[in-house]
Amino acid sequence: MNRLSNSLVAADVAAVLHPYTNARAHEQKGPLIIDRGEGVHVYDEAGKEYIEGLAGLWSVAVGFNEPRLVEAAVRQMQKLPFYHTFAHKSHEPSIRLAEKLVEMTPEGLDRVFFTSSGSEANDTVVKLVWFMNNALGRPQKKKFLARTKGYHGVTVASASLTGLPNNHRDFDLPAIPVRHLTCPHHYRFAHDGESESEFCARLIAETEQVILEEGPETIAAFIGEPLMAAGGVMPPPAGYWPGIEALCRKYDILLVADEVICGFGRLGSSFGAVHYGFTPDIMVLSKQISSSYMPLAAVVFTDEIYQAVADNTNKIGTFGHGFTASGHPVATAVALENLAIIEERHLVENARQMGDLLQVGLAPLADHPLVGEVRGAGLIAGLELVSDKATKKPFDPVGKIGALAAEAGQEEGLIFRAIGDTLALCPPLIVTEEHVHQIVQRMEATLNKTARALTS
Ligand code: PMP
Repeated sequence: MNRLSNSLVAADVAAVLHPYTNARAHEQKGPLIIDRGEGVHVYDEAGKEYIEGLAGLWSVAVGFNEPRLVEAAVRQMQKLPFYHTFAHKSHEPSIRLAEKLVEMTPEGLDRVFFTSSGSEANDTVVKLVWFMNNALGRPQKKKFLARTKGYHGVTVASASLTGLPNNHRDFDLPAIPVRHLTCPHHYRFAHDGESESEFCARLIAETEQVILEEGPETIAAFIGEPLMAAGGVMPPPAGYWPGIEALCRKYDILLVADEVICGFGRLGSSFGAVHYGFTPDIMVLSKQISSSYMPLAAVVFTDEIYQAVADNTNKIGTFGHGFTASGHPVATAVALENLAIIEERHLVENARQMGDLLQVGLAPLADHPLVGEVRGAGLIAGLELVSDKATKKPFDPVGKIGALAAEAGQEEGLIFRAIGDTLALCPPLIVTEEHVHQIVQRMEATLNKTARALTS
C-alpha cells in the first residue's frame, strides 16, 4: 500500500463508524477503499479491478461511470441546485419525475411522495396510512403485517417493519404495532416433506388466522418485498402473492410492495409486483430509480389514499410530513435521465436475458459441497452455504464462512454480499454475456477457495 492509502485507511479507522460493520473488526482490518468505477467494474486504490456483483448496494443499474447522469446533475446544479417542495412550491424535475413514475408503474398508482432513502419512504408509508385511517374515522386501523427476514430499512418505523433480529435487538424495536409472519422461503421454512404448494397454502392460512386474531378492523396494511432480497435473496413460492392480495382485498387491508430492490427491471420485469402478478395500493421505489448516483426514493400510491389525505388536511390542517430534500431537483433530474437510459437501452429486457443466463450458469453450483441452495430470479441470486447438504445444517457460527467467502471473492475480483452464509449477487442491469460468465466462474473459484480455507 502507498502512503496515501495508508493514511486514508488510518483516517477512516480513526473517524468513521461504518454502517452494518463490526466496529472492532474494522479497527483491525480497515476499509477496502474504492477509488473509481467503470461500467460493471470498480477499482480500489491499488488499481485492482472488481466486478461489482452487487451493483454497489443492489442499486447501480446503468454502471459506475454513466456520463449522461453526470451531465444531468451538472445541468441541474447550474440551473437550480436546490429548491424544496413544501408549502405550494415546486420545480420541473420533481414534477416530471412524478409524472414519469405514474406512467411507468401499474394502473391505479397515480400519486407520488418523494424522500431521499428507502427507509424514509417506508416511514412515510406508515405515516401516510395512519394519517389516512385517522382521516377516514377509523383510528384503530393502524397495525402492519410484515414478514420474518423482510427488509424495509433502519429508521424507527421502517426498522420495526424489517424482520431481522439485528435490526430489533439492542435498538428496543419494534416501536410500532407490527406482526411478522413466516418467511416465505421453502428451503428454510417448509415443514419436512411439505411441497411448495402446501407450504404456500399454509402461509396464506396463517396470514388469515393472524388477521382474524388481531381483528381486520385493526390492520392497516401488509408490506412485503416481492422477492425478499437483503434478508437473504428468497423468491416466494408460486401463488403466494395472489393469495396475499386476495386476503388484503377481503379484509380491506392495503397492500404495499416494497420495490426498493425489485423495481425498475431487477427481476427481468418492470416491477416485482408485475413479475409475480399482483397489484399493490402502494409501491416503494428507490436505488435503481437514480442508479444511486443521487439519494432518492418515492412512494407511489392510489388516488383513493390521496383523496383521504387531502380531505383530512381540510379538517385538521396541512399534511405534516416531508423532508428538506423531498423531490430534490438534482436527484430527480438524475433519476429522469437514468430512467430514460433504462428505457432506451432496453435494460429490463437485458436483465431478463442476462438473468436467465445467470440463473442457468449458477444452478450447477448447487452441487458444490459447500452449497445448500442456489436461488434467485432475473438478475438477483443467492447461494446459501451449509455444513451438511442433506440436513441443511448451517455452519457454526452463522456468518463466519460467509465472511470468509466474501474475502475470497474479493481476491478473485468479485464483490458480492454475504448475508449470514448466503452469498448474494445483484449485478448492474448493463451486464453482458461475458460479464455473466465471469461472475459464474469467479463465484465457483470463490467457493473452491473457501472450501480449501476450511480444510487447511
Ligand atoms: N426496502 C428495501 C426492500 C431495501 O432493500 C432497502 C435497502 N437495502 C430499504 C428499504 C432501505 O433503503 P435505504 O437503505 O435507502 O434506507
